[in-house]
Amino acid sequence: MFCGQYGNVVDDVEEIEQFFNLRFFPEKLALAQYFCELSYILNLPATKAKEQLNLLLNSVWLLEKEKVSLEFIKAVFELKLISFSGHMPNLVCCKFCCSYEKEDMFFNIYQSFLVCKDCFKKVEQKNGFLKLSKAVLYAMRFIIYKDGKDIFKFKLEKSHLDLLGEVIEKSILSIIEKEPLTLKIYKEFKEEFKV
Ligand SMILES: [Zn+2]
Repeated sequence: MFCGQYGNVVDDVEEIEQFFNLRFFPEKLALAQYFCELSYILNLPATKAKEQLNLLLNSVWLLEKEKVSLEFIKAVFELKLISFSGHMPNLVCCKFCCSYEKEDMFFNIYQSFLVCKDCFKKVEQKNGFLKLSKAVLYAMRFIIYKDGKDIFKFKLEKSHLDLLGEVIEKSILSIIEKEPLTLKIYKEFKEEFKV
């Protein structure tokens, strides 16, 4: 590999893992392709290349092994990747009063910050806010602040996982502004195969 005019250029590769079994599951193959496309679109800095590659490989490995659901892997991958890309959400506390946790916390998908329920009452422009469950907020903090394979080491009930997926996907689409073709294909397969 060498640094070209428009980025790093790979001129030689050695195969380590084929992820052979993915090819038997169109929805998994589509999701793996979406992971690659999103990585390309976000154009991460070279300093994050190693972490990005490890995240991608760990995610695809999990896809193949079927240890957790595809939606779980997707949400964790997406949130960690946008964090690497310089769009890490500010989940430390409420933007206005610095409360770490209150009964209800709201997340702004356009600007990636938290607002507690008391401060939310005073917010005039309420578009773009999604109410987070405690489980989803904990999960988002866990993914952002953990490293390596540990980011996948938690469980979430289906209803919370659905909300996590919605929050993260909407945040991503607000960053990249256009739904990737591979994501559309994955959703079609997901619907067809009821993943
Ligand atoms: Zn507040």
